[in-house]
Amino acid sequence: MPDASLRPLPRSLDPLEDESLHGYLLRLAHRLGTSPAEIAARTGLVPATVDRGTRRIPMGLLRNLDDQRLGVLARTTNLTPEEVRRLLTAPLGSRYGPLNSSLLAKTRTLAGMLHNNSWILTRATRYCPTCLAGNGSEVEERHGGAWRRSWRLPPVFACLRHERLLLNGCPHCGQDVNTTRTGGLIARGHEAGLHPARCRATAPGTRTVCGARLAGAGVDRAPQSPATVAALLRLQYHFDNLLAPDGPTWAGSFGWRIPAAQYFIDLRALSGLIFMTWPQARDLTETTALAALVDREAARRHVAFAKSRAPIGKQRRASHHFSDPSADPVVAGAVFGIAARLLSAPDETAGHEAMAPIIARTRGVENVVGYQLRALNGLSRSASVVLLAVRQDKGAFARMGQRIQAQGLSRVDTA
Ligand SMILES: [Zn+2]
Ligand SMILES: [Zn+2]
Repeated sequence: MPDASLRPLPRSLDPLEDESLHGYLLRLAHRLGTSPAEIAARTGLVPATVDRGTRRIPMGLLRNLDDQRLGVLARTTNLTPEEVRRLLTAPLGSRYGPLNSSLLAKTRTLAGMLHNNSWILTRATRYCPTCLAGNGSEVEERHGGAWRRSWRLPPVFACLRHERLLLNGCPHCGQDVNTTRTGGLIARGHEAGLHPARCRATAPGTRTVCGARLAGAGVDRAPQSPATVAALLRLQYHFDNLLAPDGPTWAGSFGWRIPAAQYFIDLRALSGLIFMTWPQARDLTETTALAALVDREAARRHVAFAKSRAPIGKQRRASHHFSDPSADPVVAGAVFGIAARLLSAPDETAGHEAMAPIIARTRGVENVVGYQLRALNGLSRSASVVLLAVRQDKGAFARMGQRIQAQGLSRVDTA
């Protein structure tokens, strides 16, 4: 039942084109001098009857709102339903395969897409300190710039507005800037007065908030070289173009045109294979600094995988040690750069040539986990054929192109 007592708040904040619900609540609460949890209650996102101290804003609201909540939030904030929808991550699925229920078929429930989907950053968010510093307007001077919705997508590792790399984690305490023990959407959601562009994690060994500044200059700890930044910005242009609502309808995958959203599922499979078989694809890294960063992360992942056991009732160990995207924007960008380069092969034969040594090396780690990545749910038809082809089967190998074409795809170079 809609709560009739929910009265509209003053329309005091216009959401930006790319702002997340989490950031909107932070900024609105700061503007109105109250806590995000109070705003969530006054806008119908959480029941107003729940005790103030324990009120937790569910993480699931980041993704989508049911019609009733959407309606009440729109009414109480004076936003249009369309403006509210733009604060949520679900609509990004039309351009981003890992959130696209029709590409992921029936094996993934909506709840699974949120809770077991590491390809949307829910607990952690990346950020651009320059965006958070605001655009100079009075509102942003006081309450900071928008927390962008796109920072929740692993393939977004740089800010093209400011031509710089995103950051993850707090420059002071090193934790995720929105670490919540309870798994809610906003850490310390019941506290009022905390500036939206400050770390909300609990300082280690204390009960108090870290509160370090995340905006402006001086937040960077280890700046990358100009060559590394340039390489990653080029890749981000490519990805942002594909993610844009009015972006191209197709992208290239081993020489074939696939739906732009699906490109990110192919990217997911390849980046898992790259981590799994590292340093096999190391030569394809754009700069030596990037290769060294991936070295460190791949080593950690291999140790974690080696220590892991197959879950009860399963024959194989979990593939997520390799398929989870890196939380670190720079490492993520480095691995996606290699994956994008492999996907840009001019045709399926060249693609298979490039992938064959990587696929061969999965057998030395754990064949069945490698197979799982090569048969990833939602993979494009061209990537499926290329990743599952066996060279020894000469006939099938020669017919890769026919098989892809038979499934309705056309070549990238068709006029
Ligand atoms: Zn920025
Ligand atoms: Zn901190």
